[in-house]
Amino acid sequence: MSQTIQAVRGMNDILPDEAELWEQFEETVKSWLRAYGYRPIRMPIVEPTPLFARAIGEVTDIVEKEMYSFTDALNGERLTLRPEGTASCVRAVLQHNLLFSGPQRLWYAGPMFRHERPQKGRYRQFHQFGVEALGLPGPDIDAEQIIMCARLWDDLGLADVRLELNSLGSTEERARHRQDLIAYFERHAERLDADATRRLYSNPLRILDSKNPDMQAVIEAAPRLTDYLGEDSLRHFEGVQTLVKDAGIPFRINPRLVRGLDYYNLTVFEWVTDKLGAQGTVCAGGRYDGLVAQLGGKAAPACGFAMGVERLIALWRDEHGEEAVAATRVAPDIYLVHQGQAAQPLAFSVAEQLRGAGFDVLLHCGGGSFKSQMKRADASGAPVALIIGEDEAAAGEVSLKFLRRAAEQQRIPVGRLEEEIGKMIFEWEEDNGGV
Ligand code: ATP
Ligand code: MG
Repeated sequence: MSQTIQAVRGMNDILPDEAELWEQFEETVKSWLRAYGYRPIRMPIVEPTPLFARAIGEVTDIVEKEMYSFTDALNGERLTLRPEGTASCVRAVLQHNLLFSGPQRLWYAGPMFRHERPQKGRYRQFHQFGVEALGLPGPDIDAEQIIMCARLWDDLGLADVRLELNSLGSTEERARHRQDLIAYFERHAERLDADATRRLYSNPLRILDSKNPDMQAVIEAAPRLTDYLGEDSLRHFEGVQTLVKDAGIPFRINPRLVRGLDYYNLTVFEWVTDKLGAQGTVCAGGRYDGLVAQLGGKAAPACGFAMGVERLIALWRDEHGEEAVAATRVAPDIYLVHQGQAAQPLAFSVAEQLRGAGFDVLLHCGGGSFKSQMKRADASGAPVALIIGEDEAAAGEVSLKFLRRAAEQQRIPVGRLEEEIGKMIFEWEEDNGGV
């Protein structure tokens, strides 16, 4: 016998119990996005490799070692499974000239691919919701994006997420800081690890983002970008802080918050939790005014963020407990049990009749005794089983049995089914405080 094939390491199946939880999560997120006027956009999962090299930067973890890239066998084009959504979103906006009709508030969702070491909260295929506002210079939109995140945590019942804020200033301010930073790290060259040494001249800001514990002391004492901010940058930063404070959202300024991607400027923020171990960032974003021009468009300001769905759902589980997770299980309204030649066509037509009336009906397939069918009915979680045997079929009736409460089984004529079942399910839901 040949061995069964397993999924690619770091790429997960999301099984039905979990997928139902995901759907509930996604519905909450979508209605939240509508509340802030964001519109959906869907981009391809595969893009030309140079898009990411140009948008994210050559000297970044993502472009250097995390991308799934391959050559199209037919035309030799270099292609990449998207590692994030911002680059694709901006490409689409430029390709279709969306900014022509004014600023755009857009969101997208879906799988992203990064070749990382798989561990809890870190996968090779993971999922993001991304939010981008293009054509708005801020700081109002920056603050609104932060405030909207806080509302989502509230909608999801997540108490344990805290906000970290920083400003990356302008290109010139970063350049001056960069010079001093390089000089500082040159003086401490013996304390840099291999990654940091390699990045010293190409992307020194990223050294501040290093997770290597041995480098934390040298990073802590490095020149701080905050001290290089000019008047405009400071005013922008203060504008964001004031609006966020007015909204009653506490935050911490973290001068070491620099983001992994090179196109960010001014505002950067992260939402972090202590409950997920090392993979504690559930949402990260900020301003990237340079990207549109870098991708060949007419310069336009932009601000956005991305949330890690796996991490948020893990946090949701952690905070609500497995009972709440079980309660998200979606059950049919009705399980339809039937047996016999004459019963089958009636079962099919009754099932369609009830679906047409808006009920979710699980029609038993595969035959079997009434007893075994009733076991399935019970396991389905449906409040009601409908039973059609030879007797019922001959009379044009259906037997109704409650599965979750004691009550007499009753016979209902097919013509009055919707009405009777509607009443009963309504009562059942009332008794159970809604489903
Ligand atoms: P990290 O420092 O954890 O690697 P990052 O800076 O690479 O994060 P971003 O590119 O900002 O992450 O992505 C936004 C969010 O997407 C992250 O905050 C996280 O919640 C999620 N995320 C990123 N990479 C992964 C991954 N490999 N697996 C699961 N979630 C991820
Ligand atoms: Mg990363």
